[in-house]
Amino acid sequence: MVIIMEDKATEPEIQNVVEKIKSMGFTVHRSDGIQRTVLGAVGEKRDVDKRNLELLQGVREVISITKPYKLVSREFKKDDTIIQVGTVKIGGDNVVIIAGPCAVEDRQQVMKIAEILKQNSVSALRGGAFKPRTSPYAFQGLGEHGLILMREAADKYGLLVVSEVMDVSQIPLMEKYVDIIQIGARNMHNFWLLRELGKIRKPILLKRGMSATIEEWLMAAEYIMAGGNYQIVLCERGIRTFENYTRNTLDISAIPVIQKLSHLPVIVDPSHGTGRRDKVRPMARAAIAAGAHGLLIEVHPDPETALSDGAQSLYPEQFNQLIFELNDIAKVLRKKIC
Ligand code: PEP
Ligand code: MN
Repeated sequence: MVIIMEDKATEPEIQNVVEKIKSMGFTVHRSDGIQRTVLGAVGEKRDVDKRNLELLQGVREVISITKPYKLVSREFKKDDTIIQVGTVKIGGDNVVIIAGPCAVEDRQQVMKIAEILKQNSVSALRGGAFKPRTSPYAFQGLGEHGLILMREAADKYGLLVVSEVMDVSQIPLMEKYVDIIQIGARNMHNFWLLRELGKIRKPILLKRGMSATIEEWLMAAEYIMAGGNYQIVLCERGIRTFENYTRNTLDISAIPVIQKLSHLPVIVDPSHGTGRRDKVRPMARAAIAAGAHGLLIEVHPDPETALSDGAQSLYPEQFNQLIFELNDIAKVLRKKIC
């Protein structure tokens, strides 16, 4: 249920409604919009008489949200969510570029990539320190040492750090070193991990599960928001279909679908979405043209020697060229690459 307050509702009136919602057994989520305050009443399904709320002072309207996801829905929040991380704004008219290697391998590699990102005015450095690999014998990541290297490189070049959390036990490390915590496709359905991330106050980059419907993806975001962490960026990274020319099928149509259903920013990962470096540039361009709020791109100083995902990692020159092209596309859309 969403309770929309009058434009001129006073703080005591809002508090009174908050108390009433709580007394009905719901949890309250408050969103102070530009014009008015909206209160979300979330809890287990039960019959309530909406009039008990409608008649309170300062209440403009009470709407039942019919969708299974509530807090992530446009019905709860009409305006786009813009997430501020340091000086970077994700959402709205900004196109945020998050780039770096699949996995952090050594200091030289991360420093080199961070330098390339800075030259391109990119905001955020990505890199896996805990890698979800299909084989237990494949490189699993450098763990905490990898996070330390990324932090060092990011601080030197004024970048944000984005890295994937694999398990609840790694959350304290993430809070220490990382600016945006990534949940990978394989963990999108890990509801206990999602709940734990709802308790912290760091932005979350939530990737779409490789076989998840858009509704399941939004429900995963709802898990995090229900815990009180409202800073979520959704990331389309391709889904598994019968087509096997590309590693996944990148669902560009998910961008406008999400933007209609949810207020959360949505970015696109054309690297995992295609699995082939020659397909990354066209799909990155398509994603921005379709309205994505940003991109997650794998780039490596020497993709041939990469310990993971070399085939889909761009060469630095390809990355430079792509950023150049994206700037042109963003201009047409009156947006800004950051
Ligand atoms: C990654 O970003 O390196 C990654 C493992 O992605 P995904 O979870 O989308 O497969
Ligand atoms: Mn990867």
